[in-house]
Amino acid sequence: VLDQRLQKVVSYIPQGAILADIGSDHAFVPCFCIQQQKIERAIAGEVNEGPMEAAKGQVALVGLESQIDVRLGSGLSVLKPGEATAITIAGMGGTLIASILEEGKDRLSGEERLILQPNVDAVDVRKWLLTNSYALLSEAIVEENGKIYEILVAERGDETLYSEDETTRQWELFFGPQLMRERAPEFIEKWQIEKQKREYILAQMKQGQATEVLSEKIEAIERLIQKME
Ligand code: SAM
Repeated sequence: VLDQRLQKVVSYIPQGAILADIGSDHAFVPCFCIQQQKIERAIAGEVNEGPMEAAKGQVALVGLESQIDVRLGSGLSVLKPGEATAITIAGMGGTLIASILEEGKDRLSGEERLILQPNVDAVDVRKWLLTNSYALLSEAIVEENGKIYEILVAERGDETLYSEDETTRQWELFFGPQLMRERAPEFIEKWQIEKQKREYILAQMKQGQATEVLSEKIEAIERLIQKME
């Protein structure tokens, strides 16, 4: 059985998609999707030998070698341009996800759905999407084993979730436009934890160091939480 985080990721994969799961590790996502008859074909990409072998082993174990192609390589470089109609990149930092998308731009046709699950720094993913004309279709937040995960779903198109106002948009990029509006309990909890982390760092910083940016973030998080209470 797939964990809740990855089940949520899977829920956004369109029926019948040709899936590329990048950073697939054990290839759990492609295996699950085929077993659930959600898709017929998938590519599991891995940059590291160990996880790539784990993916091959898992695919062989469930007898799906003819449907899942396990490929060794970095990011989207394992794909032919336009080969996949849905791409999942889950369980890594947002900065890494954004750089995988940036470096693999030439492999995107603009027709595919991107389902991205950054563990941290989702802001970097949102910025990449916005800069590259991918519209956020949906955002989700799930808690599992005491950790909180964000999932971003995007397709090429006109952005509708962000505000026109530049300052508001900067905060929407940081907190997530839909997540900010929905204010789920997991979202409040996440930002309470993030605020505490920043307060701790601020307390450790010496006077004269650049504390303004951090203070500004803490104040913004406070405003966000207060609005929600
Ligand atoms: N996607 C799975 C999940 O969400 O449970 C596995 C996440 S695992 C923590 C991250 C995986 O990404 C590792 O197996 C790592 O080898 C792989 N990875 C990191 N950078 C990568 C890159 N540039 N291209 C492909 N895979 C990468």
